Amino acid sequence: MTPRVRIPVELPSAKPLLPADPDSLFGMAVEAVNGACDIVKAPEYVRAILGQPKNELMVNFPVRRDDGSYEIFKGYRIQHNNILGPYKGGIRYHPEVSLDDVKALALWMTMKCALMRLPFGGAKGGVKVNTRDLSSNELMRLTRRFTSALGNHIGPDHDIPAPDVGTNAQIMDWMMDTYINTHTDGAHQGMVHVVTGKSVGCGGSEGREKATGQGICYVLSELLPEVNLKMSKLRFSLLGFGNVGAFTARALSAEGAKLIAAMDHAAALVNPDGLPIEELHQHVIDHGSLAGFKSAGTREVSPEEFYRTPTDVFIPAALERMIDEQKANWLDCRMVAEGGNGPTTPRGAEVLQRRGIVVLPAILCNAGGVTVSYLEWVQNKMGVHWDLQRVDHELHRTIVLAARRVRVAAHRYEVDLSRAAFGVAVEHLTDTYLRRGIFP
Ligand code: NAD
Repeated sequence: MTPRVRIPVELPSAKPLLPADPDSLFGMAVEAVNGACDIVKAPEYVRAILGQPKNELMVNFPVRRDDGSYEIFKGYRIQHNNILGPYKGGIRYHPEVSLDDVKALALWMTMKCALMRLPFGGAKGGVKVNTRDLSSNELMRLTRRFTSALGNHIGPDHDIPAPDVGTNAQIMDWMMDTYINTHTDGAHQGMVHVVTGKSVGCGGSEGREKATGQGICYVLSELLPEVNLKMSKLRFSLLGFGNVGAFTARALSAEGAKLIAAMDHAAALVNPDGLPIEELHQHVIDHGSLAGFKSAGTREVSPEEFYRTPTDVFIPAALERMIDEQKANWLDCRMVAEGGNGPTTPRGAEVLQRRGIVVLPAILCNAGGVTVSYLEWVQNKMGVHWDLQRVDHELHRTIVLAARRVRVAAHRYEVDLSRAAFGVAVEHLTDTYLRRGIFP
C-alpha cells in the first residue's frame, strides 16, 4: 500500500505582495520545480521543501596577499537538499558569485542527482573573487582558508564539493589536503573523497576532466533522433570554450560532427567548413581565450553574427542568463543543448518554445560531471582505481538511462523534454519522501 503522508505546511502566498524579480536565477529554478510538481502531482509539502535550501552558509575570511596586505573575501555554501544522500555540488570562483545564483545552482544539483539516480543531494558553493587578480600562492591561501572556514559543514559523507567555473583539479587537491590536515584524528586521514574532481595523482578518477563534455555527447546521441538529426552530419555551435565547451567539441567531433561557430568572453569565430578543434583548444591553453586565433576559412565575427549562424544544435557552455529574448530570436538552430547551467532567461525560454526550438535541459545535458564525480567517490571509498574504459562505460550507462527516462516522461505527460526532465527528478524525490516520511 502506498504510504500516505499529510503534513500541514505554510505555503508561500500565491499572490506575493511584490512582483517576483524576473532576473532572479533562484526564482527561475523554483519555477521549473513548481512546474514539475504540477506535472507529476507532487504533494504540497514536497513543493514547499524543494522551494528553499535546507542550509545557507555565508563566510567572510581574510587572505594574506603576496605584498603582505590582507583582503577579506566572501564565500558561500548552499546545501539545498539531502533526502537522496550527502550534499554534492561544485565550488565556483568568480567576481559575480551571489547568494541568489548559488541557491539556484544548488537546487539544480538536487534535480540533476535525482534525475541521474545518484545517491547524492544538491549543494553549491563559491567565492566572490577574480582569480586573474591572484597569484598561484594567493589562490592556494584563499582555497585553504575558505576550506577551513567551511569546517565541519563539508565532509566525505556529508557534503562533497567539486570543481565549477574558475576552479579545477589543483583547487580540489588543496581543499582535500586542508580538510585532512584540519581534521587530525586518525579517522579522517584517508578521507580523500571529501571532494571530487581531484587530480588523478591525488585520488581523482580517469575521465573526470572530460566527463561533462562526454556526457553531452552521449545525451545528444540518444536524443538527436527526436528532431530527426544524425550525429555524423551534425553541425553545432558553442558558446563558451572552457572545460565544458572544449571537451564537448572534442567528443562530438570524434563522432563526426562539425563545430561551425564558437564564442568566448573575448572573441567569436565562424568557419562553415568546421573549426579545427585541437588547434583551438591549444590556442585557449596558450593565450587564455579564442581571441587572435587564425586558420584557413576561419573568420572573427560580431556576437550577433555568431548567434545568427545557421547550425543544427546550439550548445551554451558559458555562464548563466546568456540567451535572453533578443538572442533567442537570433538563434538559427533546431535544438539547444544546455551545456552550462541556467543559460536561458525565462523570456528567452518562452521565445525558444514559441519558435519550436527543442531544449535539452542542463540537469540532463551536463550531468556527466557529477556522474563521474560519483564514480570517483565510489572508487575512493573502495580504495580502487578504474581505467578510463570502465569509467566511460558507467557514465554512458547512467546518462543514457536518464535520457530514456526523460523521453518516456515527455510522451507520458505530453510535455517537452525540459519539463519532463524536471518531472522525472521530482517524481523520484517525491517517492523517497513518501517512503521515508518527515522526521520526527
Ligand atoms: P570554464 O570557466 O572552464 O569556461 C567558461 C567559458 O565561458 C569560457 O570559455 C569563458 O570564456 C566563457 N565565457 C565567460 N563569460 C562569457 C561571456 N560573457 N560571453 C561568452 N563566453 C563567456 O567553466 P566550465 O567548467 O566550462 O563551466 C561552464 C558552465 O558549465 C557553467 O555553467 C558550469 O556551472 C557548468 N558546468 C560545469 C561542469 C564541469 O564539470 N566543469 C559540470 C556541470 C556544469
